Amino acid sequence: MTARILSGKAFAQALKDDARARAGRLAHEHHVTPGLAVVLVGADAASQVYVRNKDKACAEIGLYSEVVRMPEGISKQELIKTIEALNASEKIHGILVQLPLPGKLHAHETEILDHIDPAKDVDGFHPVNMGKLVLGIPGLTPCTPAGCVRMLEHAGIPMDGKRAVIVGRSNIVGKPMLHLLLAKNATVTICHSHTQDLASITREADILVAAVGRPRFITADMVKPGAAVIDVGINRLAPDAEHPRGKLVGDVDFDAVKEVAGAITPVPGGVGLLTVAMLMQNVVHAAEMQVC
Ligand code: NDP
Repeated sequence: MTARILSGKAFAQALKDDARARAGRLAHEHHVTPGLAVVLVGADAASQVYVRNKDKACAEIGLYSEVVRMPEGISKQELIKTIEALNASEKIHGILVQLPLPGKLHAHETEILDHIDPAKDVDGFHPVNMGKLVLGIPGLTPCTPAGCVRMLEHAGIPMDGKRAVIVGRSNIVGKPMLHLLLAKNATVTICHSHTQDLASITREADILVAAVGRPRFITADMVKPGAAVIDVGINRLAPDAEHPRGKLVGDVDFDAVKEVAGAITPVPGGVGLLTVAMLMQNVVHAAEMQVC
Protein backbone atom coordinates (compact mmCIF):
# COMPACT_ATOMS: atom_id res chain seq x y z
CA MET A 1 0.00 0.00 0.00
CA THR A 2 1.32 3.47 -0.82
CA ALA A 3 0.04 6.33 1.32
CA ARG A 4 -1.93 9.31 0.08
CA ILE A 5 0.47 12.26 0.10
CA LEU A 6 -0.99 15.21 1.99
CA SER A 7 0.61 18.15 0.22
CA GLY A 8 0.65 21.43 2.12
CA LYS A 9 0.90 23.59 -1.00
CA ALA A 10 -2.70 23.78 -2.20
CA PHE A 11 -4.11 23.87 1.32
CA ALA A 12 -1.73 26.65 2.39
CA GLN A 13 -2.90 28.64 -0.65
CA ALA A 14 -6.55 28.04 0.31
CA LEU A 15 -5.85 29.30 3.85
CA LYS A 16 -4.14 32.41 2.45
CA ASP A 17 -6.98 33.03 -0.02
CA ASP A 18 -9.47 32.83 2.86
CA ALA A 19 -7.36 35.26 4.94
CA ARG A 20 -7.20 37.64 1.95
CA ALA A 21 -10.99 37.59 1.52
CA ARG A 22 -11.58 38.25 5.23
CA ALA A 23 -8.99 41.07 5.23
CA GLY A 24 -10.85 42.55 2.25
CA ARG A 25 -14.11 42.50 4.24
CA LEU A 26 -12.43 44.25 7.18
CA ALA A 27 -11.12 46.95 4.84
CA HIS A 28 -14.52 47.35 3.17
CA GLU A 29 -16.73 47.27 6.27
CA HIS A 30 -14.46 48.74 8.96
CA HIS A 31 -11.75 50.59 6.99
CA VAL A 32 -9.12 48.52 8.78
CA THR A 33 -6.12 46.77 7.23
CA PRO A 34 -4.92 43.95 9.51
CA GLY A 35 -1.30 44.63 10.53
CA LEU A 36 1.49 42.33 11.71
CA ALA A 37 4.66 43.46 13.50
CA VAL A 38 7.56 41.03 13.61
CA VAL A 39 10.31 41.85 16.08
CA LEU A 40 13.68 40.50 14.97
CA VAL A 41 16.60 40.74 17.37
CA GLY A 42 20.09 40.08 16.01
CA ALA A 43 21.18 38.75 12.63
CA ASP A 44 20.60 34.98 12.73
CA ALA A 45 20.46 33.81 9.09
CA ALA A 46 17.57 31.32 9.53
CA SER A 47 15.50 33.89 11.46
CA GLN A 48 16.06 36.46 8.69
CA VAL A 49 14.67 33.98 6.13
CA TYR A 50 11.61 33.19 8.30
CA VAL A 51 10.93 36.89 8.84
CA ARG A 52 11.27 37.64 5.11
CA ASN A 53 8.76 34.86 4.34
CA LYS A 54 6.26 36.28 6.82
CA ASP A 55 6.68 39.78 5.39
CA LYS A 56 6.21 38.43 1.84
CA ALA A 57 3.07 36.51 2.83
CA CYS A 58 1.56 39.70 4.32
CA ALA A 59 2.25 41.59 1.08
CA GLU A 60 0.78 38.73 -0.96
CA ILE A 61 -2.58 38.83 0.84
CA GLY A 62 -2.79 42.57 1.41
CA LEU A 63 -1.91 42.87 5.09
CA TYR A 64 0.13 45.72 6.57
CA SER A 65 3.44 44.49 7.95
CA GLU A 66 6.31 45.99 9.86
CA VAL A 67 9.64 44.36 10.72
CA VAL A 68 11.21 45.89 13.83
CA ARG A 69 14.93 45.07 13.68
CA MET A 70 16.93 45.39 16.90
CA PRO A 71 20.63 44.76 17.52
CA GLU A 72 21.67 41.65 19.45
CA GLY A 73 23.01 43.72 22.36
CA ILE A 74 19.71 45.37 23.35
CA SER A 75 18.51 44.95 26.91
CA LYS A 76 15.43 43.05 28.04
CA GLN A 77 13.86 46.37 29.11
CA GLU A 78 14.37 47.94 25.66
CA LEU A 79 12.76 44.92 23.99
CA ILE A 80 9.81 45.01 26.38
CA LYS A 81 9.38 48.76 25.71
CA THR A 82 9.23 48.02 21.97
CA ILE A 83 6.59 45.33 22.54
CA GLU A 84 4.54 47.72 24.68
CA ALA A 85 4.65 50.38 21.94
CA LEU A 86 3.35 47.79 19.46
CA ASN A 87 0.63 46.76 21.94
CA ALA A 88 -0.55 50.38 21.84
CA SER A 89 -0.29 50.84 18.06
CA GLU A 90 -3.62 51.04 16.20
CA LYS A 91 -1.98 49.88 12.97
CA ILE A 92 -0.81 46.62 14.51
CA HIS A 93 -3.23 43.75 15.27
CA GLY A 94 -0.66 40.96 15.60
CA ILE A 95 2.79 40.90 17.23
CA LEU A 96 5.36 38.18 16.90
CA VAL A 97 8.81 38.06 18.44
CA GLN A 98 11.02 35.88 16.24
CA LEU A 99 12.47 33.02 18.31
CA PRO A 100 14.99 31.96 19.41
CA LEU A 101 16.14 35.23 20.95
CA PRO A 102 19.94 35.55 20.83
CA GLY A 103 22.50 35.84 23.62
CA LYS A 104 21.41 36.76 27.13
CA LEU A 105 17.81 37.42 26.03
CA HIS A 106 17.30 33.72 25.31
CA ALA A 107 16.97 32.89 29.01
CA HIS A 108 14.19 35.52 29.35
CA GLU A 109 12.04 34.46 26.37
CA THR A 110 8.99 33.47 28.42
CA GLU A 111 9.07 36.66 30.48
CA ILE A 112 9.46 38.79 27.32
CA LEU A 113 6.61 37.06 25.46
CA ASP A 114 4.35 37.63 28.49
CA HIS A 115 4.42 41.36 27.63
CA ILE A 116 2.63 40.85 24.29
CA ASP A 117 -1.04 41.83 24.58
CA PRO A 118 -2.82 38.40 24.44
CA ALA A 119 -5.29 39.88 21.91
CA LYS A 120 -2.31 40.52 19.56
CA ASP A 121 -0.40 37.31 20.35
CA VAL A 122 -0.59 35.75 16.87
CA ASP A 123 1.93 33.02 17.75
CA GLY A 124 -0.49 31.87 20.47
CA PHE A 125 2.34 31.33 22.96
CA HIS A 126 1.09 33.74 25.69
CA PRO A 127 -0.07 31.94 28.86
CA VAL A 128 -3.54 33.49 28.42
CA ASN A 129 -3.92 31.95 24.95
CA MET A 130 -2.38 28.65 26.07
CA GLY A 131 -4.81 28.63 29.01
CA LYS A 132 -7.75 29.30 26.69
CA LEU A 133 -6.65 26.41 24.49
CA VAL A 134 -6.58 24.07 27.49
CA LEU A 135 -10.00 25.30 28.67
CA GLY A 136 -11.54 25.12 25.18
CA ILE A 137 -12.21 28.89 25.05
CA PRO A 138 -11.72 30.59 21.63
CA GLY A 139 -8.40 32.44 21.43
CA LEU A 140 -5.28 32.61 19.27
CA THR A 141 -3.78 29.16 18.67
CA PRO A 142 -0.15 28.25 17.82
CA CYS A 143 0.19 28.19 14.03
CA THR A 144 1.96 24.87 13.35
CA PRO A 145 -0.29 22.52 15.36
CA ALA A 146 -3.41 24.45 14.29
CA GLY A 147 -2.31 24.04 10.64
CA CYS A 148 -1.86 20.26 11.15
CA VAL A 149 -5.35 19.81 12.57
CA ARG A 150 -6.93 21.99 9.85
CA MET A 151 -5.10 19.86 7.27
CA LEU A 152 -6.40 16.59 8.76
CA GLU A 153 -9.92 18.06 8.63
CA HIS A 154 -9.44 19.28 5.07
CA ALA A 155 -8.16 15.83 4.00
CA GLY A 156 -11.28 14.20 5.50
CA ILE A 157 -9.26 12.17 8.00
CA PRO A 158 -11.54 11.35 10.95
CA MET A 159 -10.30 12.38 14.41
CA ASP A 160 -13.43 11.75 16.52
CA GLY A 161 -12.89 8.60 18.61
CA LYS A 162 -9.55 7.86 16.93
CA ARG A 163 -6.32 7.08 18.71
CA ALA A 164 -3.79 9.91 18.23
CA VAL A 165 -0.16 9.73 19.34
CA ILE A 166 2.14 12.77 19.40
CA VAL A 167 5.89 12.29 19.72
CA GLY A 168 7.31 15.50 21.22
CA ARG A 169 5.94 17.67 24.05
CA SER A 170 7.28 21.15 23.22
CA ASN A 171 5.21 24.20 24.12
CA ILE A 172 5.05 25.28 20.48
CA VAL A 173 4.03 21.99 18.85
CA GLY A 174 3.40 18.92 21.01
CA LYS A 175 1.44 20.39 23.93
CA PRO A 176 -0.92 22.59 21.87
CA MET A 177 -1.44 19.68 19.45
CA LEU A 178 -2.55 17.53 22.39
CA HIS A 179 -5.36 19.97 23.21
CA LEU A 180 -6.37 20.58 19.58
CA LEU A 181 -6.75 16.83 18.96
CA LEU A 182 -8.55 16.39 22.28
CA ALA A 183 -10.99 19.10 21.19
CA LYS A 184 -11.67 16.97 18.10
CA ASN A 185 -12.56 14.05 20.41
CA ALA A 186 -9.45 12.01 19.63
CA THR A 187 -7.97 9.85 22.39
CA VAL A 188 -4.54 11.39 22.69
CA THR A 189 -1.21 10.11 24.03
CA ILE A 190 1.85 12.35 24.15
CA CYS A 191 5.34 10.81 24.16
CA HIS A 192 8.79 12.28 24.92
CA SER A 193 12.38 11.31 25.54
CA HIS A 194 11.51 9.43 28.75
CA THR A 195 8.76 7.35 27.14
CA GLN A 196 9.43 3.63 27.39
CA ASP A 197 8.84 1.27 24.48
CA LEU A 198 7.87 4.15 22.18
CA ALA A 199 7.24 1.93 19.14
CA SER A 200 4.54 -0.08 20.94
CA ILE A 201 2.66 3.20 21.56
CA THR A 202 3.16 4.75 18.12
CA ARG A 203 1.94 1.49 16.52
CA GLU A 204 -1.46 2.05 18.18
CA ALA A 205 -1.94 5.41 16.49
CA ASP A 206 -4.58 6.06 13.85
CA ILE A 207 -3.05 9.54 13.70
CA LEU A 208 0.68 9.83 14.41
CA VAL A 209 2.28 13.25 14.80
CA ALA A 210 6.08 13.49 14.81
CA ALA A 211 7.57 16.64 16.37
CA VAL A 212 10.90 15.39 17.65
CA GLY A 213 13.58 17.27 15.72
CA ARG A 214 15.48 14.10 14.75
CA PRO A 215 15.90 13.15 11.10
CA ARG A 216 13.87 10.07 9.99
CA PHE A 217 13.26 9.11 13.62
CA ILE A 218 9.88 7.43 12.94
CA THR A 219 10.55 4.24 11.01
CA ALA A 220 8.08 1.99 9.18
CA ASP A 221 7.94 -0.57 12.01
CA MET A 222 6.65 2.18 14.36
CA VAL A 223 3.58 2.89 12.21
CA LYS A 224 0.19 1.14 12.18
CA PRO A 225 -0.82 0.14 8.63
CA GLY A 226 -3.21 2.76 7.24
CA ALA A 227 -2.38 5.46 9.83
CA ALA A 228 -2.29 9.18 9.00
CA VAL A 229 1.25 10.40 9.66
CA ILE A 230 1.89 14.10 10.18
CA ASP A 231 5.56 15.04 10.00
CA VAL A 232 6.27 18.36 11.69
CA GLY A 233 10.06 17.93 11.74
CA ILE A 234 12.43 20.03 9.67
CA ASN A 235 16.00 18.75 9.76
CA ARG A 236 18.88 19.64 7.51
CA LEU A 237 21.30 16.77 6.82
CA ALA A 238 25.03 17.29 6.27
CA PRO A 239 25.84 18.62 2.76
CA ASP A 240 26.66 16.09 0.05
CA ALA A 241 27.36 16.25 -3.70
CA GLU A 242 23.64 16.22 -4.57
CA HIS A 243 22.60 18.67 -1.82
CA PRO A 244 25.39 21.20 -1.26
CA ARG A 245 23.30 23.03 1.40
CA GLY A 246 22.20 19.74 3.03
CA LYS A 247 18.99 17.87 2.21
CA LEU A 248 15.87 18.83 4.20
CA VAL A 249 14.17 15.85 5.80
CA GLY A 250 11.43 15.38 8.37
CA ASP A 251 11.22 13.35 11.57
CA VAL A 252 9.66 10.49 9.59
CA ASP A 253 11.49 8.05 7.32
CA PHE A 254 9.24 9.12 4.45
CA ASP A 255 10.21 6.56 1.77
CA ALA A 256 9.68 3.56 4.06
CA VAL A 257 6.70 4.91 6.04
CA LYS A 258 4.70 5.85 2.94
CA GLU A 259 4.54 2.12 2.13
CA VAL A 260 2.75 1.44 5.44
CA ALA A 261 0.75 4.59 6.24
CA GLY A 262 -2.63 5.51 4.73
CA ALA A 263 -1.73 9.21 4.46
CA ILE A 264 1.49 11.14 5.06
CA THR A 265 2.78 14.71 4.86
CA PRO A 266 6.04 15.21 2.93
CA VAL A 267 9.03 17.31 4.02
CA PRO A 268 9.49 19.76 2.45
CA GLY A 269 6.09 20.64 1.02
CA GLY A 270 3.89 19.53 3.92
CA VAL A 271 3.33 21.07 7.35
CA GLY A 272 6.05 23.72 6.90
CA LEU A 273 3.98 25.55 4.29
CA LEU A 274 0.96 25.68 6.61
CA THR A 275 2.71 27.55 9.41
CA VAL A 276 2.98 30.90 7.60
CA ALA A 277 -0.52 30.47 6.13
CA MET A 278 -1.92 29.91 9.63
CA LEU A 279 -0.04 32.99 10.84
CA MET A 280 -1.89 35.02 8.19
CA GLN A 281 -5.17 33.49 9.44
CA ASN A 282 -4.26 34.46 13.02
CA VAL A 283 -3.42 38.08 12.07
CA VAL A 284 -6.78 38.47 10.34
CA HIS A 285 -8.57 36.70 13.20
CA ALA A 286 -6.87 39.00 15.74
CA ALA A 287 -7.94 42.05 13.71
CA GLU A 288 -11.53 40.75 13.48
CA MET A 289 -11.64 40.27 17.26
CA GLN A 290 -10.25 43.77 17.84
CA VAL A 291 -12.54 45.69 15.49
CA CYS A 292 -15.78 43.69 15.15
P1 NDP B 1 11.80 20.54 20.74
O1 NDP B 1 13.24 20.22 20.63
O2 NDP B 1 11.34 21.69 21.54
O3 NDP B 1 11.04 19.23 21.29
C1 NDP B 1 11.38 17.95 20.85
C2 NDP B 1 10.56 16.94 21.59
O4 NDP B 1 10.94 15.65 21.12
C3 NDP B 1 10.77 16.97 23.10
O5 NDP B 1 9.54 16.89 23.76
C4 NDP B 1 11.63 15.74 23.37
O6 NDP B 1 11.37 15.12 24.62
C5 NDP B 1 11.15 14.81 22.26
N1 NDP B 1 12.17 13.80 21.98
C6 NDP B 1 13.49 14.00 21.73
N2 NDP B 1 14.10 12.82 21.56
C7 NDP B 1 13.17 11.86 21.73
C8 NDP B 1 13.19 10.45 21.70
N3 NDP B 1 14.32 9.76 21.50
N4 NDP B 1 12.03 9.77 21.91
C9 NDP B 1 10.88 10.45 22.13
N5 NDP B 1 10.79 11.80 22.18
C10 NDP B 1 11.93 12.48 21.98
O7 NDP B 1 11.27 20.61 19.25
P2 NDP B 1 10.03 21.42 18.58
O8 NDP B 1 8.74 20.87 19.06
O9 NDP B 1 10.28 22.86 18.64
O10 NDP B 1 10.25 20.98 17.05
C11 NDP B 1 10.17 19.64 16.64
C12 NDP B 1 10.51 19.57 15.18
O11 NDP B 1 9.53 20.30 14.45
C13 NDP B 1 11.85 20.21 14.77
O12 NDP B 1 12.39 19.48 13.70
C14 NDP B 1 11.48 21.60 14.32
O13 NDP B 1 12.40 22.12 13.39
C15 NDP B 1 10.15 21.32 13.67
N6 NDP B 1 9.24 22.48 13.64
C16 NDP B 1 8.64 22.73 12.45
C17 NDP B 1 7.75 23.76 12.33
C18 NDP B 1 7.08 23.97 11.02
O14 NDP B 1 6.71 25.06 10.70
N7 NDP B 1 6.88 22.91 10.25
C19 NDP B 1 7.47 24.68 13.45
C20 NDP B 1 8.08 24.26 14.69
C21 NDP B 1 8.95 23.21 14.76
P3 NDP B 1 11.71 15.83 26.04
O15 NDP B 1 10.62 16.85 26.24
O16 NDP B 1 11.66 14.73 27.01
O17 NDP B 1 13.07 16.46 25.87
